[in-house]
Amino acid sequence: MATADVIVVGGGVIGGSIAYHLLARDPRLKVILLEKEAEVGTGATSKATGGVRHQFSTETNIRLTQLSYPYFADAERVLGRSVDFIPHGYLFVTTEPGTFEQLKKNVALQRRRGVRSRLIDPREMKAMLSQLVVDDLLGGTFCPDDGSADPYGLLQGFLALARERGLRVLTSEPVVSVSREGERVVGVETPRDRYRAPVVVNAAGPYADRVGALVGVAIPSKPYRRQVLVTDPLPDFPEVFPLIVDLDTGWYVHRQGKSAVLMGGTDKDEHPGYDTTVDWEAFDLVFKAAGKRVPPLADAKVMRAYAGVRDLTPDYHGILCAARDPQGFYIACGFSGHGFMHSPAIGLLMAELILDGRATSMDIGGLSLERFKAGTVSTEANMF
Ligand SMILES: Cc1cc2nc3c(=O)[nH]c(=O)nc-3n(C[C@H](O)[C@H](O)[C@H](O)COP(=O)(O)OP(=O)(O)OC[C@H]3O[C@@H](n4cnc5c(N)ncnc54)[C@H](O)[C@@H]3O)c2cc1C
Repeated sequence: MATADVIVVGGGVIGGSIAYHLLARDPRLKVILLEKEAEVGTGATSKATGGVRHQFSTETNIRLTQLSYPYFADAERVLGRSVDFIPHGYLFVTTEPGTFEQLKKNVALQRRRGVRSRLIDPREMKAMLSQLVVDDLLGGTFCPDDGSADPYGLLQGFLALARERGLRVLTSEPVVSVSREGERVVGVETPRDRYRAPVVVNAAGPYADRVGALVGVAIPSKPYRRQVLVTDPLPDFPEVFPLIVDLDTGWYVHRQGKSAVLMGGTDKDEHPGYDTTVDWEAFDLVFKAAGKRVPPLADAKVMRAYAGVRDLTPDYHGILCAARDPQGFYIACGFSGHGFMHSPAIGLLMAELILDGRATSMDIGGLSLERFKAGTVSTEANMF
């Protein structure tokens, strides 16, 4: 049996960030990270397309990006390595009056929070990508500081720094039970070993509800498949253009340098599950939406496609809190498609919560598990 001060369950970018931030605060801590797979980062983290955006509709999600942003834009200084951040901007577009009104509200809130987002008219959008069909658009929003980075690079950055401070990462170690004595959690078990610790952090991504169930904590975060289609290089398109989201359909396009274009979205309402088999028929909707908004993309040659799983909550905000029962059990999951971009903030805030008893870098009261029972949810509107 091994002992630790903190056990982190899950070796994705969230678990890696939490381990790093704990040890950055106190290198004397004994932290063990347990990962069920043979390698870290093979879950949702390996499937994330790396988007980083400020353009959310709630103060909480905007603030989480702002806290995280230096880890992308200033990664060499903060993490000692690049995470290949490219500030290409995000462009949200719509033809629907209701959605456009919401976009206006979002921008007003973002600007009050110091974000450089703005409303943008169709003519200016066309200048960003000449292949974009804008005639039917009412308008959109753009933020030049949004962009994308390398999820695996960020995870490896967190883990390298944490290992220097003594983190033990154990792979092929699925947590199959969480032990409690009275009102407290006292450790976890895997098929191979027992681990004793007064603090257990559930960072199991799309499996977090299952890990919660091991100790009687109901977590309303569910796994939903998200597919991505990768085209051939498309030399007629600029090497860099904004990540474009058509909010009418949920379709998005994301340039990957010279090499390819990624497309996806339109699959928000699938049933929950862990199946990552590619459903080729579902791409009909992607091509239909592409054909309407950027017609040459509907004829692009498909190089490959893959599917991953996102952990979605009913209000599209993460869950970040200490469980009321048992004590010592912490939850960091349900990041609803923003977990990569928010992972630096989540690690920082979780370290504060565990070590100081409360998060101080921002108010995380709205991210508690209790909000669902209390009905105090505020749903993120800028989802795709
Ligand atoms: C196609 C796709 C595109 C995305 N694009 C973006 C994007 O552009 N920007 C963005 O911010 N986010 C994006 N996301 C979401 C992002 O990938 C996730 O929010 C983020 O990776 C969550 O990280 P995590 O560490 O919580 O989960 P994961 O990376 O899934 O890590 C959880 C880990 O826990 C392990 N685990 C589970 N159960 C156990 C157990 N019982 N014992 C031990 N280990 C266990 C798993 O094996 C896994 O390695 C995307 C997701 C998908 C699928």
